[in-house]
Amino acid sequence: MLAKFAKDKKLLWGFITLLWMSFTFFAVINYYLHKNLLIDTAISSLENQTQVTGYTFDEWMSARKSVVISLANELSENTLSDHTKIPQSYFNRIARTELLDFLSYTLESNYYRSNPWVIPPGYSPNTRPWYTETKEALKPITTNPYISVEDNKTAFIAFTVPIIEQGTFMGVAAGEVEFTTIYNKILGSQLNHQGKFHLVNSQGKVVLEGNSPLHKISDSSVVDMSALIQKINSENKSHLMTENKIYAFYPLKHNTWWLVSEVDKSIVLQPVYLQLRNILLLFIFLAFSTYILQRLYSSRVFKPIIKQFQTDWQTTLPNKNSFLEGIQILSNNGSHCGVCLLIEYLDMSALMSNYSNEEIREIHREIIRRVQSIYGKKLIQGSIAYDQIAFFKPMNQVPNISKIDKCFEQLQASLTNNFLINDNLITIKFRFSSASIPNDGSSFDILNKAQIALSTIQDKGNNFKSYTEHTKSKLANETKLVQALNTAIKNNEFSLVYQPIFSFPDKEIEGVEVLSRWNSQALNKTIPPLEFVQIAEQNNLIHDFSLWLAKTLFIQISIWQNNNISFKKYALNLSSHNLHNPRFISKFIELIKKHKIDANQLEIEITEHVAIEHFPKRQNPLKQLRDLGVSISVDDFGTGYSSLSYLKQLPINTIKIDRTFIKSLPNSQHDIALSKAIIDISKEFGLHLIAEGVENSEQADFLHKCGCSHMQGYLFAKPMSAEELEAFAAIKKPS
Ligand code: C2E
Ligand code: CA
Ligand code: CA
Repeated sequence: MLAKFAKDKKLLWGFITLLWMSFTFFAVINYYLHKNLLIDTAISSLENQTQVTGYTFDEWMSARKSVVISLANELSENTLSDHTKIPQSYFNRIARTELLDFLSYTLESNYYRSNPWVIPPGYSPNTRPWYTETKEALKPITTNPYISVEDNKTAFIAFTVPIIEQGTFMGVAAGEVEFTTIYNKILGSQLNHQGKFHLVNSQGKVVLEGNSPLHKISDSSVVDMSALIQKINSENKSHLMTENKIYAFYPLKHNTWWLVSEVDKSIVLQPVYLQLRNILLLFIFLAFSTYILQRLYSSRVFKPIIKQFQTDWQTTLPNKNSFLEGIQILSNNGSHCGVCLLIEYLDMSALMSNYSNEEIREIHREIIRRVQSIYGKKLIQGSIAYDQIAFFKPMNQVPNISKIDKCFEQLQASLTNNFLINDNLITIKFRFSSASIPNDGSSFDILNKAQIALSTIQDKGNNFKSYTEHTKSKLANETKLVQALNTAIKNNEFSLVYQPIFSFPDKEIEGVEVLSRWNSQALNKTIPPLEFVQIAEQNNLIHDFSLWLAKTLFIQISIWQNNNISFKKYALNLSSHNLHNPRFISKFIELIKKHKIDANQLEIEITEHVAIEHFPKRQNPLKQLRDLGVSISVDDFGTGYSSLSYLKQLPINTIKIDRTFIKSLPNSQHDIALSKAIIDISKEFGLHLIAEGVENSEQADFLHKCGCSHMQGYLFAKPMSAEELEAFAAIKKPS
């Protein structure tokens, strides 16, 4: 899971998306909150500025108007015939105030001016717009703008007053001002947010445009000022907003014009945009640093941790989880076939106590090399348990059974070769199993199947097994058996049978071997001892079972003793697990004592395998029993271990020739030779000898000829119940 976490960048992208979402949220909120605030502030500052400027402009115009009015008054006070009496000094005085660029008066027949000006030829003041407008209005006005006659580009407006004598229009007094002057003094004043002023007449026509470089008379405008003016009039407001602009209006008092200020919304909102840009930069910075941090974290912290999680520290191989994940990833990527191989060390504990970790790792590496030489290099490997290594070989097609078997045999041969570790050649025993996808399972349970197959390996001659359906059903049966076995003692399902051992040829009962029988209620059948004993061993039930066996036998011996029935020897089979359990041994001895059994009458049968197992010198269970008087018999002699040195080292009394050698007597030369050899060995070592499974008299005669005088088998008696044995012995005695 962690590996996935580190590999795909979901977390990183999740975080960046979250960052982006909060940025957007923050930006939107910020934009709307600030936008309105900024616009409101801009509007009120625009309104203020427009009002102040409008007021100034009004004052400015008022001053100029009064100059012209006083000229007109002056003219009116004198009769017009005396108008020349207005001294030049009067004009000079006005000129010095610089209120007006030109001051003049024009009579219907004559023209007088304040400033020295060369009148262009053909100039007729009476036809000029300011003259005709005033003549028409017959009251002081501020004229519409007009263009100068000589350069055709300088724009003027004039403050004019009609000269009226005795009710008759006589002429016009006019004070002219260049637009540039108006611009410089009024309209050019600094407006917040890079705004500009316009002069607009009552029809909404722009009289003077704030940003016109020449301050020409403008007759067009980008916005429909007349519509705006109309709106202003109807809504009784002093500002208006269009999609991109904000306007503030001031109606001038001295004429019907409006002073209009205009501001671009985008400039008003610039601080918001700046803030948004800063947030965006911050976001980019955060996202970038998160990315860098994630990379650093992933390479320096995450990956090493994940590696630790995925590795088995002892073998330094991938652990079970990452092995399974490897198979799963292949399956997810479309590779649905393959073979899973499981190798188990049979003596890992011994290896671990004799070799260092590094040496054991070298053994692992050597195994991997050997497996790769057979199965190829493309393998997923993993350490499944402290003594198990697994491999998975992905395949393009359904694995071929015969090919799997062939590889298996090669592996078997390869693993039998010794391992060279630090100049020492060591032999290591393994058992291994395999299961394949899709034959035996899917990527989910293939290791499980291989483990099941491994757990079913019991045959000592064979140390490998492939998973089959049979394995599965066998295991299922075993599970049922284990469950039934768990309650068998309590349910009194076990019983004992006794098979006499005879001397030959006089056929005297020399002893009895105690064998057990299990009739399971749950399974409704009899289960052979070889089967249930093994399961009891595997499931740690063998101690209780053997103690029950001993107790039942001892009770039976006591009953017989009370009835004056006695056999020379009672041989009972013990499992190697029993002998390796000191608690069992002490309980067994306790039972002997408790039931007051003569230990000299007891014999325990152990297999050769048990006989050679290493027992502690101080508390050797065989020696403990032997010291008590119990004799030790080696069962199934000849089938197991080849070395005979243990016969000398261990306190053994008896050996029993296995039934397999007796079966073909006296016809098989091989068995004849073996039986003879075993008989010789018993003589050599001074051991008591019993031949098992004697079924016919030829076998008995032959064995007798060879020097074996104790026999057990169907020829003489089958295993029988205690009552049957009593009867059998009673009949035997008189004969
Ligand atoms: P074993 O100890 O070698 O016991 C002898 C087996 O050979 C018995 O089988 C017996 O019935 C059978 N047998 C005896 N004579 C003949 C014969 O002439 N022909 C043939 N074909 N078979 C003969 P059983 O009772 O089925 O036991 C099988 C094995 O199960 C025993 O082999 C022993 O290893 C184990 N076993 C039986 N009872 C116990 C027990 O109570 N405890 C332990 N630990 N193992 C037991
Ligand atoms: Ca036996
Ligand atoms: Ca036997």
